[in-house]
Amino acid sequence: MPAETAGQRFLERILSAGLFEALEAGTRTFMLECSCGNKRDLWEAGGVKAAGSEQRTLARCGVCSQRTWHRKRKKTETERRQEFESGVRGRVYLSSRAWWASILVWASAALVWALPVFLIADVPEPDWALGILVATFFAGWIGPWFWLTTRYRITETTLHVDSGFFHYELDLGRITEVSEQRKSLGMSFAFDTKFLWVGYPMTFGAVLISPQERELFLRELAERCQHLHRVGDELIA
Ligand SMILES: [Zn+2]
Repeated sequence: MPAETAGQRFLERILSAGLFEALEAGTRTFMLECSCGNKRDLWEAGGVKAAGSEQRTLARCGVCSQRTWHRKRKKTETERRQEFESGVRGRVYLSSRAWWASILVWASAALVWALPVFLIADVPEPDWALGILVATFFAGWIGPWFWLTTRYRITETTLHVDSGFFHYELDLGRITEVSEQRKSLGMSFAFDTKFLWVGYPMTFGAVLISPQERELFLRELAERCQHLHRVGDELIA
């Protein structure tokens, strides 16, 4: 979906494609709701909000024509399911993130970013100091980059798995099984202990993913993988 407002277009220009797509996916889990009851998808209303708690903002409502305080709130599970049932497909599923993984990622980034404080004090040349600053900035950013950009998307024939500089396209027809158990080693793109193991004929045997809104993800995947059938939270041949 293209950017719709100046603010969104500006972010599209300055962010990497992966970060921008993740930002849009996050924003689309929010609603903009007027006190008259009119509600819109926050992204389509031109807003941006990837995470965090409810906020209020002044906006003009297209239904009651008033300038009122609108709520920016998380969509309920029912609202997300209704979107799905009304035919929305190919949405970007962000990875679910366990609290311990969150702490690990940001604490290690903070540690790397803090390194110059200790290193620069002993550096004989000012040029080195700049080099160290730049190097540690990028090194520290690697974890959060994977963290923020890990996402999955199902199209008609393909499961796209993106994370940092990784991009995998799995041919849906060749997926052998989707299981809650790890059945072989695999490339992990899951940030949660509750993962899905996707069996696939590839070098590392499988990919591990952890989509938020797991139920909708599984329904969408089951629809597209006609050679598999769903049993509980798994797809088997
Ligand atoms: Zn209104």
